[in-house]
Amino acid sequence: MFRKLMDRFNRFMYGRYGADPLFYALILLYVVFTVFASLFSPLFLLLAYAAVIWAIYRYFSTDIYKRREENRKFLGIWQKIKNYFAYLRDRFRDRKVCRYRKCKYCHAALRLPIKKGKHSVKCPRCGKSFDVHIWI
Ligand SMILES: [Zn+2]
Repeated sequence: MFRKLMDRFNRFMYGRYGADPLFYALILLYVVFTVFASLFSPLFLLLAYAAVIWAIYRYFSTDIYKRREENRKFLGIWQKIKNYFAYLRDRFRDRKVCRYRKCKYCHAALRLPIKKGKHSVKCPRCGKSFDVHIWI
């Protein structure tokens, strides 16, 4: 009985997109918005339903190319968010050893030793020199 049902479902899912990281993120968003709705305002339920409807639509969609493209964009954004939090973690971890400054030209994060005062720094990524102040 169960096996027959699974076969039927598998046949139905043939050619459909299924789950991917964006699907799981939307489900997580649904849970978060549902909790927000119970804590703050019932309007969050609209966002929760929108997230879950989009997740279900994507799951059963047959336009696999478009769904992959959406997932690729999502993963690019997600990677930027992860990198930003890794940068904050490193910055906090190294707070007693060094200071982080952004390059004026290419915005690369530079890890500098703590030497108070004004220093000339050469960015290892773009090779340009500029002055930085380290106060504390
Ligand atoms: Zn640079």
